[in-house]
Amino acid sequence: MSSFSNLQLAPELARAVAEMGYESMTPIQEQAIPVVLSGRDVMGAAQTGTGKTAAFSLPLLQRMMKHENASTSPARHPVRALVLLPTRELADQVAQQVAAYAKFTDLRSTVVFGGMDMKPQTLELKKGVEVLVATPGRLLDHIEAKNVVLNQVEYVVLDEADRMLDIGFLPDLQRILSYLPKQRITLLFSATFSPEIKRLASSYLQNPITIEVARPNETASTVSQHFYSVSDDDKRRALRQLIKQHAITQAFVFVNSKLGCARLARTLERDGLNTTALHGDKSQDERLKALDAFKRGDVDLLICTDVAARGLDIKDVPAVFNFDIPYNAEDYVHRIGRTGRAGASGLALSFVSGNDNRLVVDIEKLIKKKIELEAIEFEEDRPRERINTGRRAWGEDDPRDVLDAPRASSPRAATPARAPRSAPRDPFFDQPYEAPTEAPPPAWEPGERPSGRISANIKPKRKVAALFKTES
Ligand code: AMP
Repeated sequence: MSSFSNLQLAPELARAVAEMGYESMTPIQEQAIPVVLSGRDVMGAAQTGTGKTAAFSLPLLQRMMKHENASTSPARHPVRALVLLPTRELADQVAQQVAAYAKFTDLRSTVVFGGMDMKPQTLELKKGVEVLVATPGRLLDHIEAKNVVLNQVEYVVLDEADRMLDIGFLPDLQRILSYLPKQRITLLFSATFSPEIKRLASSYLQNPITIEVARPNETASTVSQHFYSVSDDDKRRALRQLIKQHAITQAFVFVNSKLGCARLARTLERDGLNTTALHGDKSQDERLKALDAFKRGDVDLLICTDVAARGLDIKDVPAVFNFDIPYNAEDYVHRIGRTGRAGASGLALSFVSGNDNRLVVDIEKLIKKKIELEAIEFEEDRPRERINTGRRAWGEDDPRDVLDAPRASSPRAATPARAPRSAPRDPFFDQPYEAPTEAPPPAWEPGERPSGRISANIKPKRKVAALFKTES
C-alpha cells in the first residue's frame, strides 16, 4: 500500500493529510488520485467508507493550487469545482472533509443543501468559493436566484450517482450540467455501474478511466454477525440484555419504519437509555443535532431508519443492531457497514421474528454465508435469589452502567476536527457491497423528489433511461 508522500502533494495538502492521521492510501485513493491528477475523467465504483472523498478531493485541490490566492475579492474565488451529492447529510459530510483537506490553503469551500435558510448560503456564495458541494435541488435554486455563477467550473464530481438517479435527480443533473463549461474534468462515483449509470457516464464523461475497487455484496470480515430468534414483544429486552452481555458502549439500532423509530427511541429513553432518533420526519436541524450528539458521545443509541443513516460517516461504532430485519438484503450490508470499519472489530446483532424467514434467506444468499439462528435466554426468566433489587427493568446489571462507562478510545471522537485513526489495510475497502438498485428515495427531500411512491415497502423501479436523450 503506498503512502501519500509518493504523491508529491503541495505541502499544505500533505500537512492536512498528516493531521488527519492517514498513513497510507486506501485502494480507491491509490488508483484514483494519480488518474485525477493526470486530468482524466474517472468512473469509479466505490461508496462511502472507502476513502473516496479524499480520492477525488485531494487531487482536485492539488490541481487548483495554481489558482490559490489570499485576495478578499469574490472575483478572485470563482467556483472551480462542483461536487454534487444526493442528500443533505452526505453533502455536509463531504464538505467537512473537503474543508479539512483545504484548511492550510487559501482555497475556499462551502456547502449548499435544501431545508435550510438560503440567506447564509447566499452570503457564503457571494464571498466566492473555489469548491462548492451541493445537493442538486438547492443548487438549482441558487442558480435561478443568480447567487452563483458556474462558468468557470473546471471540475465536476457526481458522487453517489446511482442514488441521485434512484431519487429522480436526473433532470436536475442534466440542467446543472448544461450550465457548465464543456471543457472540464468530470468524475462519477457510484456503488454500482447499472445501465443507467453507464448511460449517464457516456453522456457526460469523456473517455473516462474506469476504477473498480469493489467486489459487491461482501460484509467486512472484522464484523461478528449474530442472528437471534426473538418475538416482537421481546425485542426491547433482548436489546437491553445484549448491550449488557457484550458490554456495548455505543450502537446504531436500525428499524424499518419512521414511526417504529420514533416509538422505539421514546420507549428506550423511558427505560433510561441514552437515545436519539434519526429518521426522515425530523427537521434538518434536529437530524444534524442528533448526529452531532452521537458523534460527541452524548448519546449511546442512535435509533435510525435506512434512508436516514445511509452513507453517514460515523465509523467504528462498536455495534449495530437490526431491531428489524431490513426488507432489502442489501440494506443489511449497508447497515452493518457502520461497524467493524477500517480494521476495527464490530458486532452486528439482528433480531429475527416470526415473519422474517424469507428476508433472512435473502441475506444468506447475498452475503453467501449460512445464518444460524441463536436463542436468547433472558436473565429475568432465570430463577433469581432476590426479587426486588430496587432497580427497574433489568435488575442489578443495568445496561446503562455499560453505556455510561468511560470510553477512553471512544470512536465517537470522529468529529471532522479530530484526527481519525489511520486505517490498516482492510478487506472491507476492497469489498464494498452493491447498493440496492431500487433504493427508496430519502423521505426528507420532499420538494426535490418525484412523487408516486405507493408505500414504504413498495419501490417501483424508475425508468430513468427514458429521460436520457437517445444517442446513437
Ligand atoms: P469516505 O469514504 O470518503 O467517506 O471516507 C471514510 C472515512 O475514511 C473518513 O472518515 C475519512 O476521514 C477516512 N479516510 C479516508 N482516507 C483515509 C486513509 N487513507 N486512511 C485512513 N482513513 C481514511
